[in-house]
Amino acid sequence: MSKATNAADTQPAVRKRGNRPTEDAPVLGFSAAEFRRRLSGWYRDHARVLPWRGVDDPYATWLSEIMLQQTRVATVIDRYKEFLLRFPTISDLANADEADVLALWSGLGYYRRARMLLRGAQFVEREMQGKLPSTALELRTLPGVGEYTAAAIASIAFGESVAVLDGNVERVLLRLLGEPEDKSAQARARLVAVAGMLVPPARRGRAAKKGVVGERDHAAGDHNQAMMELGAMICLPRSPLCSQCPVMELCRTRGEHATPPRAKMQSRTVAHLLALRKRGVETEVLLERRAREASLMAEMMELPALPLDVTEGREPVLRLRHSITNTNYYVQVFTESVASESVVGVAAPEDSLVEQIPAAKEALEWITTGKLAQLPLTGLARKTLQRLQVMSAPRLKIGKE
Ligand code: SF4
Repeated sequence: MSKATNAADTQPAVRKRGNRPTEDAPVLGFSAAEFRRRLSGWYRDHARVLPWRGVDDPYATWLSEIMLQQTRVATVIDRYKEFLLRFPTISDLANADEADVLALWSGLGYYRRARMLLRGAQFVEREMQGKLPSTALELRTLPGVGEYTAAAIASIAFGESVAVLDGNVERVLLRLLGEPEDKSAQARARLVAVAGMLVPPARRGRAAKKGVVGERDHAAGDHNQAMMELGAMICLPRSPLCSQCPVMELCRTRGEHATPPRAKMQSRTVAHLLALRKRGVETEVLLERRAREASLMAEMMELPALPLDVTEGREPVLRLRHSITNTNYYVQVFTESVASESVVGVAAPEDSLVEQIPAAKEALEWITTGKLAQLPLTGLARKTLQRLQVMSAPRLKIGKE
């Protein structure tokens, strides 16, 4: 699943029962069975090999679905593996410190997801004897699990016949039906109905009822993953690869669709300070902890921000671009070596950049470079520290000694 996939939990999942197509539900214009046959054949041959696919562990499916929300697949792969190595079970996660969980989440962004995942694991451990519930309806009771995620977990991990409707699936369906993008509730209801028509019905019989590993029905989960894969790999937002599309013959638009305008990117220039000092044989770096009330990345650690005017006339040691949603941050990083015995706010020269940090002194902390990897760093801080080889080089010599 891709980044675009998962604006997700604001979007409806589709139940086969209890959410019947509305009266003005569109006529597909093709056979749902034929659509599924073509899609599943293509998915079997072309699905990307991803570490969370083919895994019979509902916890791992849950983790992957949460990580993939608003985050690129390529970014998630290593983090997913690291996370499972560190916290292989719900119980391990439920007993973890939030700081450790956030540290592992560093670079994935949207840290609220990590906090919700931890709370969800604690809830499952405490209230559900450590076992994830198996239906979309029950999964919705977990913190941070919305309609999309519940449907994805229920279908992929437990075989429930419930369709997911995320950004990728929505795009595919609109193009298949030749309908324009429409944010109205009525248009949404029609797509919900269509997604519900296409998802494979539950298999009857003992295996389907059991919903246990090895006997579960993979049809709905594979179908949902195939729909999302089609949107992510073939029916691309800008230039769909219709000639490679397994359902091209069933599609009403085949590339002749209206494309909504691209969201305009904003630009901002920001400055951060990399202040280092020696403590015996160790090197320490000054970090700022974001406020508990911050709307974004609360309590994560980052290099202290500097007002742009105090950096005038100085040359940054690093310039980089960092994108968050629709903003490109042009980041300048300045360095300063600080006398070993110095304390922030005391005994630093007047033109010291450390003295220009606007953050409250209580929010600042000197951290040994060897410990950085275990901290809940923001993605930008991690990227900067890695680029400047601070994380991998505990003994540094930069700036004036
Ligand atoms: S034919 Fe083209 S527009 Fe239609 S679903 Fe396939 S990729 Fe999308």
